[in-house]
Parts: sequence; structure tokens; C-alpha cells
Amino acid sequence: GMAAMHLPVFGAIKVAVRVRPLTPQESLNHVHTSVEVDEDNSYVIAAESRQNQPRKFTFDEVLGPTCSQALVFSKCVAHSVDAFFDGYNSTVMAYGQTGSGKTHTMSQIVPEVVRNLFQAIDARKEDGTQCHLVIQYVELYNEELRDLLLVAKVPAQANQASPPSSGGRGDHPLLGSSTSYRTASNINIRETAEGEIFLEGCREIPVNNAFELMSWIAAGNAVRSTAVTHLNETSSRSHSILILSLQQQLPPSPDSGEVEILSSKLNLIDLAGSERTKKSRVEGSRLKEAVSINQGLLALGNVISALGDVQRRGCHVPYRDSKLTRMLQDSLGGNSFTTLIACVSGSFDNLEETLNTLKYANRAR
Ligand code: ADP
Ligand code: MG
Repeated sequence: GMAAMHLPVFGAIKVAVRVRPLTPQESLNHVHTSVEVDEDNSYVIAAESRQNQPRKFTFDEVLGPTCSQALVFSKCVAHSVDAFFDGYNSTVMAYGQTGSGKTHTMSQIVPEVVRNLFQAIDARKEDGTQCHLVIQYVELYNEELRDLLLVAKVPAQANQASPPSSGGRGDHPLLGSSTSYRTASNINIRETAEGEIFLEGCREIPVNNAFELMSWIAAGNAVRSTAVTHLNETSSRSHSILILSLQQQLPPSPDSGEVEILSSKLNLIDLAGSERTKKSRVEGSRLKEAVSINQGLLALGNVISALGDVQRRGCHVPYRDSKLTRMLQDSLGGNSFTTLIACVSGSFDNLEETLNTLKYANRAR
């Protein structure tokens, strides 16, 4: 269809860089900006260091500090929604150090996606196509998958999926009982004979309209922040993964009477913070400092580079090196569309991590 004309090459990864504005506090502190943006020509120039020559990076899209929500959607997300309805799997993810604008970016994208999804579903209904949309919402922390919707429930008016009731006084309106921050970790990543990946043991909730879908997402977000408080964790070290699965039952073919069903997935991912965290430990009599890098992000970077090489040299893509890449195997490369939005702060104080992010994103090209 028309939509397909805007789609990039299969398996190619579209890389966008978004530079967030300085925060009010940074502006007050006279923090200087380390990144220069040219949106029209899609490049950023980052100071290599305070002393050295600046370095220029070119990407598919560059979004500056004043970029609107509508522009983020049209440049980075719209083609994934089109692909989703054309029956292809699609992934949009935000990468970057903590504080660079990942959550801000994804929380601008999500409602726009939800609006567009149900507009498209309604339009298809008129053409005789029946759509079934299902949400799953998980968090990946230390290579452990957790179901953010396991015990979540939504306000009564949206509740057509009958989640388990958990009455009792003092319930959180979205979370149910006070033990709701417990999330199951017995989710297994499985693959069908056709190469489709699915999460065994993960709750799937059918949604009928935009309000229901937004309510379930809010419920999952509430579980996530409650878990952070109760388990004394920082959300910056976990990936949050929203999976929307669509089944479209097309009207019967006038000739054969056969009914075709299109299945596709759309993953919206707020990745863990990309900053290197220093861990100190005592070994023998010496204090050792190890730099730990998130296993999912490390594997994702390797998969992304390998996908670039597959087209050139047909090399192996190491999906199995982390749960993140394994669960995205059918939605990353191959017959799917992926957009990586690399978020950076423009502040000089973050220059080192900004350069790390730009170099990581550059591997995908
Ligand atoms: P992260 O999720 O990467 O840790 P956040 O999304 O929480 O970062 O952003 C850090 C702060 O910067 C938040 O206060 C957020 O509102 C603000 N911020 C991030 N991106 C933008 C933007 N494009 N425009 C305005 N404020 C932003
Ligand atoms: Mg965040």
C-alpha cells in the first residue's frame, strides 16, 4: 500500500539522535552545551573534549532540543505503526544515559501510538477487517523478566478483561492489594517452529479501545515504580518493554472465500541507562574497581553491528547473548523494522557519556 513506500529497507535499523534541552538547573548553573545540532542535514557535532577537535556524526534523523512530540512521532515512529498494520514486526527503543530523556521520549511516543492504532483499527473495521490487539508489559532487570501486569488491574469502566480481583482496604486504585509489587519471574522466552518468539507465562490482556490500553500501561508503570520503592532498586538499571500484538482477520476473499490472518508485534522499549557503573570490591588486600556494563545493552550493540554486517558479509547475529536480544529476535533485523532513538544531554558535564552514546548509535549504521 501507500504506507509501504515510506518504509526503510527490511532489517535495516533506523537511528535517530535526540538532544534534550538543558534542564532549568543546568541553565541556572551556566552549563554549556557540548552538542551542536543540524536537523536538516541530520548531523550532530560533539566536542571531543574541552580541548580537542569536535567530531561530526551523521544519523538517519537528528532531533534538536526544541523538537516537538509530533515531529518525534512522524520521523521515528509513524513508519513502525504502518509496518505493524502491514503485518511486520517493529521495535522502537530509546537508548542513552540516565537523565538523557529516554522516559520523556517514550512517554511522548506511547499515547501517540495508541491514538494512531485505534484510528487505524476503526478504519479497518469499516473495510471488514477485524483487529484483535493484546498488551504485554514486562521489565527486564539483571537478566530476570518480570510481568508488570501480573496483578495489575484497571479502573472499573475500562475493565472488560476481568483481571483478578484483589479487594481489601487501602488498595492502590491501579495496583490492587498491597503485595502487588511482586511480579512473577517465571517467564520463559520460547520460539515457535515458524521462528516467532513468545513469552511463556506472561499475562496477555486484550484491549478494545485507547482508554483501556492507556489504563493498562499506567497500571504497569505504577507496578514498576512500586517495585522500585519496595525492592530498593533503581529503575535506571532495568529495561521496560511494552509489547503490542495485533491479529488482523481480513475479509474473506471473494474468489476462494478463504480468510487470511495477519499477525504482527510492536515493541516499545525504554532501555536501561547506558552509563558505565563502577563497582568497587575488595579482592585479597586490594580494592578492585570493575566497570559493569548492562548485559542487554552490550548484546544489543553486538546484534546491531552484526545486522549491519549481515547485509555485507552474512555473519552470525548473536541474539542469544542476552534475554533482551533473544526476546527481540523476531522483531530486530530480518523481516522487521527497528528504530533506535539515542538520547543525549547537551550538557558539557555529560560529554563522556554523550560521546559513548553517539558512538554506540553509530555502530548501527
Ligand atoms: P531518562 O529516562 O533517560 O533517565 P528522563 O526522560 O527522565 O531521562 O529525562 C530527564 C529530565 O529531562 C526529566 O526531567 C525530563 O522531563 C527532562 N527532559 C528530557 N527530555 C526532554 C525534552 N526533550 N524536553 C524537555 N524536557 C526533557
Ligand atoms: Mg527513565
